[in-house]
Amino acid sequence: SIVSGEVQGQEEEQAEFSLRPQTLSEYLGQKRVKKEMAVYIKAAQKRDEALDHVLLYGPPGLGKTTLAFVIANELGVHLKSTSGPAIEKAGDLVALLTDLDPGDILFIDEIHRLAKPIEEVLYSAMEDYYVDIVIGEGQTTHAVHVPLPPFTLVGATTLAGQLSAPLRDRFGIVEHLQYYTVEELEKIISRSSKVFNIEIEPQAAHELARRSRGTPRVANRLLRRVRDFAQVKGEKVISFATTASSLQQLQVDEEGLNQTDRKILRVIIENYHGGPVGIRTLAANTGEDVETIESLYEPYLMQNGFLLMTPRGRMVTEKAYVHLGLPLPNK
Ligand code: ADP
Repeated sequence: SIVSGEVQGQEEEQAEFSLRPQTLSEYLGQKRVKKEMAVYIKAAQKRDEALDHVLLYGPPGLGKTTLAFVIANELGVHLKSTSGPAIEKAGDLVALLTDLDPGDILFIDEIHRLAKPIEEVLYSAMEDYYVDIVIGEGQTTHAVHVPLPPFTLVGATTLAGQLSAPLRDRFGIVEHLQYYTVEELEKIISRSSKVFNIEIEPQAAHELARRSRGTPRVANRLLRRVRDFAQVKGEKVISFATTASSLQQLQVDEEGLNQTDRKILRVIIENYHGGPVGIRTLAANTGEDVETIESLYEPYLMQNGFLLMTPRGRMVTEKAYVHLGLPLPNK
């Protein structure tokens, strides 16, 4: 599957499935989100009603899908999973909705990529649990009113800004997932290494956590790669030395930036004197698509002070020049 431009292999999908926490207490980090969700879940259960619709947003790999499954598990309901681009016809959506039991969750990943006519079907479904669909052709066309079971829509998006206002307004619960701290990622790495049945030196786990872009998916991916290097060396416990040398080989630098992060900064510096540069120009010059830059690369580069957003476009900071070892421009 493609998660906002991140191509995931089968190995990664299987690994992610086995690594997925099942309960809120196993779900590490995101303290504020968990605390709020715990309250909403309890309240919905007390009232014996479907949980209000939930919108989860934040960069790829931060645990939106995982959290959707955790919510279903905590509520004790089924979850049906789909994604914005996968729903081609309104009928596909209606089929999913009519198949739900009361209280169930429909999870729509990349909900900002839903086609407009399909999004419009969601409005009445979310608000009043019904859809009006048109069936038949020509003379026999007629509208059918289809009542739905009370359900919870959990939508996930990497680009909340691209959601239309009418859709966004229909989510009673909106949660922004944040990058994880190094300590939280260390805990995730330690949990994953238990699942994989591998041992890792605490200092090595710390280094991996530090260089994982604040992202559990990246931490788990790097852990699997470092494990390969350690295994080839015949190491029983993944050492700090092996971790550092494998990260170097994988071109993940001291700040956790990867090749594409550096390419983006370098293009702005070398082709555009440090900016400002528009997103489309940047995409064309790096060979990445606009959505991937906006959802995956930029948020991390901005959060860490390498990149700035100005009204005229993206600009690199002094920190970016220093990090890449490039001379600062004359002012
Ligand atoms: P998203 O849907 O935001 O792209 P996922 O939910 O697919 O991200 O998370 C990617 C992987 O990261 C999951 O398979 C899981 O192993 C791990 N992960 C994500 N969030 C957490 C968390 N809070 N605690 C532990 N592991 C997590």
